[in-house]
Amino acid sequence: MSHTLKNKRALVTGGSRGIGTGIVNRLASEGADVAFTYSSSPDRAKEVLQAAQTLGVRASAIKADSANASSVVASVERTVAELGGIDILVNNVSVLAIARIDELTLADFDRTIDVNVRAVFVATQAAVKHMKEGGHIINIGSTNAERMPFTGGSIYAMSKSALQGLAKGLARDLGPRGITINNVQPGPITTDMNPPEGEFAQMLKKLMALPRYGTVEEIAGMVAYLASPEAAFITGANLTIDGGFSAYSSLRSKQPQ
Ligand code: NDP
Repeated sequence: MSHTLKNKRALVTGGSRGIGTGIVNRLASEGADVAFTYSSSPDRAKEVLQAAQTLGVRASAIKADSANASSVVASVERTVAELGGIDILVNNVSVLAIARIDELTLADFDRTIDVNVRAVFVATQAAVKHMKEGGHIINIGSTNAERMPFTGGSIYAMSKSALQGLAKGLARDLGPRGITINNVQPGPITTDMNPPEGEFAQMLKKLMALPRYGTVEEIAGMVAYLASPEAAFITGANLTIDGGFSAYSSLRSKQPQ
C-alpha cells in the first residue's frame, strides 16, 4: 500500500457493486477514509464496508437513491459529518436503458437524466460547499459519449455526453478554488451492468483494439491517480480508458445493427 491519499476523505456514489466497489477498495488501500452510497444491495454494501475497514480506514455505507436529489444532498452531508469533511467526490452511479426510440418512454428519459446527470450536479454542488483547495471531483462517464456503435443506446450516450460538458464548465467555476473536476470514460468493463460473455459482449470485443473487457481495478487506478496530488494540473478533461474501443477500425468488424 502506498498511502498516497492518507487523511483524505472520499465519497463514492454506487460503491456496493462493480466499478464503484473497485474505486472504494482502491481509495481505501491508498489510505483515504471512504463513504459510499448504494440503493438496493445492503448485503453487498456491508461486505464492501467491512473490506474497507479491514484496511484500517474509516468507512461508511449510506443508503441513498441517486434519483432523489434530497437523498443525494443528505449523503454528502452525512459524509462530511462522519468523516469530518470531503476532499474527493466520485460520481459513479448510472442507469442503462437500452431501447430504440420507438420503445423508449418519457419515464426512461427522465430517470436517465435524474440518475446519470442531475445527481452528478446535485452531489457536486453539495460537496463543493465543503471542499477546500486540493479537492477532486471525478465523474464516471462512458466511451459511448465518443462512440455509440449499437442501436438503443441513445439516452445513455446523451447522458454521458452531458457529463463531458459539465466537467468542462465546472472546471472553470472550480479552477480558481484549486479544485479539479474530470470525466473518466470507461469502455467495456466486467460488472453486473456489462457481463463479459454473451452475444452483446462478443460484439463489443470485436470493436476493440485490445479484444477483452477491462477490469474494475483498471478504472479504479485512473480514479486514484486523478484523486492524487500528482494529477493536480488535470482538470476539465475527458479521460477515455476503453481498450481502444473509440479508436475505430473498420477492418476489425462490421458496423453492428
Ligand atoms: P453496476 O450496475 O455494476 O453497479 C452500479 C452501482 O450503482 C451499484 O453499486 C448500485 O447500487 C448503484 N446504483 C444503481 N442505481 C442507483 C441509484 N438509483 N441510487 C444509488 N445507487 C445506485 O454498474 P457499473 O459498475 O458497471 O458502472 C459504474 C459506472 O461506470 C456507471 O456510471 C456506468 O455508466 C459506467 N460505465 C460502465 C461500463 C461497463 O462496461 N461496466 C462502461 C462504461 C461506463 P445497488 O447495489 O444498491 O443496486
